[in-house]
Amino acid sequence: MPETQAPSATPPTRGHSSRPELSVVVPVYNEAESLPLLLERLKQVLDGAVTSWELVCVDDGSRDGTLSVLRLLAAQDRRVSAVSFSRNFGKEIAIAAGLDHASGDAVVIMDADLQHPPETILRFLEKWREGYLNVYGQRSDRDGETPLKRNFAKAFYRLFARFGETELPEGAGDFRLLDRKVVDALRALPERARFSKGLYAWVGFRSAGVPFEVAEREHGVSKFRYRKLFSFAFDGLSSFSTVPLKIATWAGVVIALLAALTALFFLLRTLFFGTDLPGFPSLIVSIMFFSGIQLVSLGMIGEYVGRIFAEVKRRPLYLIGERVGFDARTVDHPR
Ligand code: UDP
Ligand code: MG
Repeated sequence: MPETQAPSATPPTRGHSSRPELSVVVPVYNEAESLPLLLERLKQVLDGAVTSWELVCVDDGSRDGTLSVLRLLAAQDRRVSAVSFSRNFGKEIAIAAGLDHASGDAVVIMDADLQHPPETILRFLEKWREGYLNVYGQRSDRDGETPLKRNFAKAFYRLFARFGETELPEGAGDFRLLDRKVVDALRALPERARFSKGLYAWVGFRSAGVPFEVAEREHGVSKFRYRKLFSFAFDGLSSFSTVPLKIATWAGVVIALLAALTALFFLLRTLFFGTDLPGFPSLIVSIMFFSGIQLVSLGMIGEYVGRIFAEVKRRPLYLIGERVGFDARTVDHPR
């Protein structure tokens, strides 16, 4: 390992002896049972497939024995290292931290729960060696998910395709291989709201998809509840689209036109037929309608202002409570 590593270090040349060829980055939240199994499977797949590799786990504030399992694994196998967050920061941030601490020429990002089959990494490597820098796994089905979750995902991708400013490849998720060049590009992005699916697509580079089947979760349960998924979806849309803001404008224009037409109608009717209607109900309805529209528009603007606030505070993306297995290496300071 190099002694020091400047934050904006130039990408190392491939095959550089002091860096592993491949880093596997895994965000981990309460996955104590899955980790030993994951390491076993990675050994089976990667020994022989690459000259050297490392496993970088990011413990996202787990409450079970995850950290002690990581300490144990790191003590047994020098290729294992881990950073442990001071609290739960979420999977997206955990991935960002993993990319900050991975030193390989290529980095694979995968889940800890073995839903991303390690064997697929071999096909990622093939593509990488063919010269693709951004190789993403494409889930071929969503059979394992509840219909509600599936439909929600579908609706989100349709919305994103329609309004997002970046194109998301179908079925692509976090399971992927990134070349050092792509990792450095991602690390240079300053935003706090990390919608990585969008960021991977935004940075570009030669990309290729590799289909894979999502396996069953081996242990534990999914950490993503619907509320979390909804806020995740909104984060994604608002980080990659200003359409919600424009909707407010459009609605305003349409309603103003309608109001002008209504005014004209009442004017003509009064001129020709005189007035006799108190018009109380229509007044109440229109007041309610317009205040509703105004509140919605304000709310939308507020969401964006909130995001700007979060960005300008420039808080660190994450805080590390403990580093495991990094003794021999010096790592970049987190952003
Ligand atoms: N994860 C994380 N932080 C969180 C939630 C999840 O690091 O706050 C990790 C989790 O340990 C797993 C991956 O993200 O490695 C995917 O989580 P999960 O399997 O619960 O999601 P699903 O497969 O249902 O999308
Ligand atoms: Mg999972």
